[in-house]
Amino acid sequence: MNNKNIRNIAIIAHVDHGKTTLVDELLKQSHVFRDNEQVGERVMDSNDLEKERGITILSKNTSVMYNGVKINIVDTPGHADFGGEVERVLKTVDGVLLLVDAFEGTMPQTREVLKKSLALNLKPIVVINKIDRPGSNPEKVVDEVLELFIELNANDDQLDFPVVYASAKQGIAKLNMKDEDGTMDCLFKTIIDTINPPDCDEDGPTQMLVSNIDYDDYVGRIAVGRVERGSVKSGMQVTVCKKDGKTVNGKIAKVYTHMGLEKVEVEEAKAGDIIEFSGIADINIGETICDPEHVEKIDFVDIDEPTVTMTFSVNNGPFAGREGEFVTSRHIRDRLFKELERNVSLRVSETATPDAFEVAGRRRITFISSY
Ligand code: GDP
Repeated sequence: MNNKNIRNIAIIAHVDHGKTTLVDELLKQSHVFRDNEQVGERVMDSNDLEKERGITILSKNTSVMYNGVKINIVDTPGHADFGGEVERVLKTVDGVLLLVDAFEGTMPQTREVLKKSLALNLKPIVVINKIDRPGSNPEKVVDEVLELFIELNANDDQLDFPVVYASAKQGIAKLNMKDEDGTMDCLFKTIIDTINPPDCDEDGPTQMLVSNIDYDDYVGRIAVGRVERGSVKSGMQVTVCKKDGKTVNGKIAKVYTHMGLEKVEVEEAKAGDIIEFSGIADINIGETICDPEHVEKIDFVDIDEPTVTMTFSVNNGPFAGREGEFVTSRHIRDRLFKELERNVSLRVSETATPDAFEVAGRRRITFISSY
C-alpha cells in the first residue's frame, strides 16, 4: 500500500531566485513551528561555506505538514557537474518544484537538473517567484519555461505543468496573476494534488537504498535515503548489500525523520519517508538495507569519479610558523580523514612523504578553509 500522507519533492532553482525564502515561508505557513519558535534565516543554506559562496551544494531535507500530509522537500545542487549526486537525490522524489524569478526568467544553470528530472518522469510544478518585483513579467517567464520544457523533451503530461505565482518575500501566492493575493495555501494544495504519493510498499519486508551519507560526532556515520518497502526501526537487525555483491549483517541504532528543519528521532519510519539512521559504521552510498529474510539489492547510479588531484603538505617554506596557525601533518591528516566521513566524492591517500597527502575531488577543493 502507498503512503498517501507523504509527498517527496525536490526544488530546482537558480541561485538567488528565492529558494531559501520560499522554504522559510512554507515552514512558517505550515505551522510546524510553535508561535514562539523562530524560523532561522536562510534555512537551506545553513552550511557556512555554502553561505559564503552563495550556492547550495549539499542536498538537505526539510519537511512541512499541510492538512495531515507530510511534504519532504529535498534540495538539489544547482549544478550540472554533480552527475550521480543529482540522480540519487531525484530518485527519492516524485516531483520537482522549478522556481524561477519573474524578472530574470529561466537560467541555463538549472537546465541539466531539470533535464534529468523530466527524463526520470518526475512531475514538475512551476513557481514563478518575485512577482512583486517592479518590471517583472510573470506570463512571459511561463512561456519561456514552456519552451525550455519542449526543448528538454518533456512529455505531454509534464508540459501541462501547474503554475503558481508567488512572492516568497511577501508570503503570498496565487494560481492566476489576475487573482487576489492569497497565502501559500494554493502552493501546498498544488503539491499535494499534483505530485503522486511515493510508490512504496509499507507492508512488505524492509528495503532501503542509501542515497547519501552524513556524519555526527556522537552517533558516527549516518545513512540517508528513502524507505522503499516496509519500515526501518531502531534496534532492528538488517542485512546490508554492498556494491560488490557481498552482504554483511548490521543493526540499526537510531532512526530519524524530518519535522520542519529539525531532525527528529523516531522508533520507526515507514516506506515512502525520507529518513536517516545510525548504527552501521561503514555504511556507504549505493548500499541496500534489507530484511535478513529478504535480501534484495536496489540498482544504483554510481558516484562520479574525482576529476582534480592536489597534494596537501606541511608548510616547509622559509616563513613556516611565523604567520598563521602552525599546522602539523597530524592536523592535516585528521582534518582530511574527518572530511572523508561526509564528503563522498573525496579520496585521500598517503604518499611516500609522511608530511604530504594526495587528495582527489571533483571540483575546487575548498572545504579545508573550515578547519
Ligand atoms: P536562493 O539563493 O535561491 O536561496 O535565494 P534567497 O531566498 O536567498 O533569495 C535571494 C534574494 O532574493 C534575497 O535577497 C531575497 O530577499 C530575495 N527574494 C526572495 N524572494 C523574493 C520575492 O518574492 N520578491 C523579492 N522582491 N525578493 C525576493
